[in-house]
Amino acid sequence: MSVHSKEWSRDSWKSMPIHEQGIAYPDMAHLNHVLQRLAELPPLVSPASIESAREQHAAAARGEAFLLVGGDCAESFDDIKTDIISQKVSLLANQANHIEAVTGLPVHVTGRMAGQYSKPRSQLIETLADGRRVSAFRGHNINGPDIADREPDPQRLLPGYWHSVAIMHVLSTAEKVHTAHEALHLPMEAALTKDRSNTSATFLWVGERTRQLDGAHLEYVRGLRNPIGVKIGPSTSPADLLNTLGRLCYDREGEEGRVTIITRFGAEKVGAVLPALVEAVRASPFRPVWMCDPCHGNGFTKSGVKTRKTTTLLSEVAQTIRILDRFGAHLGGLHLEQTGEEVTECVGPESLVSDDLGKHYTSLCDPRLSGTQAMWLVERVAEIVVE
Ligand code: PEP
Ligand code: MN
Repeated sequence: MSVHSKEWSRDSWKSMPIHEQGIAYPDMAHLNHVLQRLAELPPLVSPASIESAREQHAAAARGEAFLLVGGDCAESFDDIKTDIISQKVSLLANQANHIEAVTGLPVHVTGRMAGQYSKPRSQLIETLADGRRVSAFRGHNINGPDIADREPDPQRLLPGYWHSVAIMHVLSTAEKVHTAHEALHLPMEAALTKDRSNTSATFLWVGERTRQLDGAHLEYVRGLRNPIGVKIGPSTSPADLLNTLGRLCYDREGEEGRVTIITRFGAEKVGAVLPALVEAVRASPFRPVWMCDPCHGNGFTKSGVKTRKTTTLLSEVAQTIRILDRFGAHLGGLHLEQTGEEVTECVGPESLVSDDLGKHYTSLCDPRLSGTQAMWLVERVAEIVVE
């Protein structure tokens, strides 16, 4: 039987390989006990919000709406604080209002919030200065950033759920805010799946490291009713992308916005990689949303910490908009790692912020745009969209 025709269930991913991003729990009975508890807990998102997200993604695929996704690389349990959450929500609202005012398009906001607690890592093992080898930090749902906390502990999934509830509560008072996270931790995602809906977020994406065609992650998301995303890096060929779309849209080929392709090529590579991909998709029956994540292809290390340059991020988005336009497609959304706080994790633009990375660098994983930087970026992007 081909991978396309195989019947889907919320557990069908279990017969497929997880490749390199599996989580080595020391006690599987403990994990199963926690998963049973999670499965009994109430949904975090309603069926109506999943349907509304589907409509929003379809509208973005048609060019009738714009999707804005933003939030931390890795959310922290310690950041469940009224001011931190409300600053993130206000930033998203200000960005959305600005894009709407400039482009005239309705902007649908999705917080990379209330569940972004599981991380893929390029290096799963970290070697300490004294030569000890420990598991890398994998997100607060899996282990802790302190060296003593690196063993994966399934019990953490329960505070993960309750912290999400607290954030959902704040979001429920904000207009229009949906939620998204990476569908990385499949045992947890499956436990929170009812019928064909993932009830922990409206929008889920599969990351660049776990999108193998024969892999468990694509298998899990392909049967969901939620709109789904797939992140693609610069090694993606047109055949890869078409096969991926074929797998994810196996029973609904022409459905607008069924899949959101999240491009993250880097400003230096987008020009060489994107044109052939857009051309191939335009000639196919698939009607995805093109969303640009300018963050993940543009990282570098400065003074020993990871950072990103705002002007380079803008360059990737600008090139993406122009290439899509050249092939009769359009940018349907933006995916940003950002926070409303004035963190010093990314650099530039020179006229606005000083490059003092040490001043307020609190990210648990990748560097986020500060409120000022994120607003600056969105203002420039809105101008380019209407050029
Ligand atoms: C992320 O979104 O934090 C991430 C790991 O992205 P990617 O899969 O694109 O590297
Ligand atoms: Mn990240």
